Amino acid sequence: MILLRHLNACLRSARTWIALGVLAPVGMLAASGLMLLDLRRDAWDRAEQTSRNLLQVLERDIARNVEMYDLSIRAAVENLRAPGLGQASAQMRQLILFDRAATARDMGVMLILDERGDAVDDIDAVPARKGNYADREYFQVHRARAGLGLHVGTPIVSRLTGEPMLPFSRRVDKPDGSFGGVVLGSLKLSYFAHLFGEIDLGRGGAINLYLNDGTRLMRYPSEQADIGANIAQAPTFRRFMREGRGSFVATSVRDGIERYYTFTRIGALPLILNVALSTRDVEADWYARATVIGSVLLVLCGLTIALSLLFGRELRRREAMRAELATLSRTDALTGLPNRRCFEDRFALARAAARDAGRPLALLIVDADHFKRYNDRYGHPVGDEVLKGLARRLSASVHRPEDLVSRIGGEEFAILLPDTDEAGALRIADRVHAEIRALTVASAGIGAGAVTVSIGLACAVPSHGRGPSVPDLYRLADGALYEAKAGGRNQTRCAAPQGVPATPPRGTLQLVSAS
Ligand code: GH3
Ligand code: MG
Ligand code: MG
Repeated sequence: MILLRHLNACLRSARTWIALGVLAPVGMLAASGLMLLDLRRDAWDRAEQTSRNLLQVLERDIARNVEMYDLSIRAAVENLRAPGLGQASAQMRQLILFDRAATARDMGVMLILDERGDAVDDIDAVPARKGNYADREYFQVHRARAGLGLHVGTPIVSRLTGEPMLPFSRRVDKPDGSFGGVVLGSLKLSYFAHLFGEIDLGRGGAINLYLNDGTRLMRYPSEQADIGANIAQAPTFRRFMREGRGSFVATSVRDGIERYYTFTRIGALPLILNVALSTRDVEADWYARATVIGSVLLVLCGLTIALSLLFGRELRRREAMRAELATLSRTDALTGLPNRRCFEDRFALARAAARDAGRPLALLIVDADHFKRYNDRYGHPVGDEVLKGLARRLSASVHRPEDLVSRIGGEEFAILLPDTDEAGALRIADRVHAEIRALTVASAGIGAGAVTVSIGLACAVPSHGRGPSVPDLYRLADGALYEAKAGGRNQTRCAAPQGVPATPPRGTLQLVSAS
């Protein structure tokens, strides 16, 4: 029950509604923020998965092709040792040396070079197309060192076809182990361009293939300057080399775009492949959704806060109006003093307090003498002015905050004096007479001393023993007032002793006899 009452009071409070109106949007924003973060995480998870899958497919394709070419190159190296090769016809020699599998679409040229670098066998021509390749990097590498195995050289432009190629080569050893030449099989760079070109990575995405030394073999999408460029010093490339396989976000040194790089080495080959997605592309869909959700949410939050503030303001206004009405209902419109209703409430409270605390309580009823005459002589408005003047003078006669001066009837006022004994109350009554002697109404020519009042005074004081209640001071004071009027007016009379005094639990109140 108490809880319900408390809840009800909370719901009526403007502060509660304003707090709710601010807290609810904050909660909504927090929940939506978490949801958007979750959506962003999903977008990144998808991007990571896509990158990994792509990288795997591309790596397998490249590794399989290179392995196929290497098998052909290796076969040629071994077939060079076939018995009777020297006696075979040129066509037969070509058939023995070259594996036809290597004539696939992306195979560039396949040549066997002797120790001087001259082409001696050619997969595409009998006799071999003339040419010396001793100046090529792959030739010099093999000549300088045995046992290199498969060598992946830097990209070259074929002297036979004019196309850019990636040279794969193996050394041919003579029976005594000395350098006997090189078997070359080159792969068209267009193979990588076709392979990468089939993949859509969004506007800022890219696929790159590098040699271990930082040479870019292929980029998709590519510009001429990209192929062959060396990025060995770029932090991204250093990380590729250091980690071998993985992913990270970095800004490209090539175009300054921030990308999510997923990279791997291709098998045991000196090749590094990476798939790079622009972070903007990764978050594009999420960003669009977040913008819409965020905007709608902000508008809703703004509306909620605005409505709560308006509602809170309205509640406050109503509360202020209610308080004002309550005050008005307890105030006398003419004099601004507390009215009879207020007096009765305060009187009841004061009586209860006097009984409980065993403290004295005094009541003065003040009535203007022959007031009817002022109305008859000067008119009602002047009568009102006199009443206002009386109210001011009465208020000036008391000083303690707990004393109450109220208008209880036409020209009748009550002064309630808690914690005041008869002597104290008489001093106040004297002060009232003195104050009213000074009252003038200049507009009507009413001078000082013209207005007088009669006062009936009743006082209850604690005494020992028990009694039913605090005596009816109002009735006693009224009786005393009647005596003051009868005694010639402009005077104070105290209530005469009235039977057995009322007694509170902690003390008894007794009447003071009239003076
Ligand atoms: P007494 O000395 O015996 O008290 O005589 P009195 O004339 O003061 O008393 P009476 O009860 O005969 O008259 C009171 C008058 O007070 C009657 C009424 O015209 C006047 N009165 C009451 N309320 C108001 C008011 O709000 N304004 C004005 N101007 N006069 C009022
Ligand atoms: Mg009167
Ligand atoms: Mg009267």
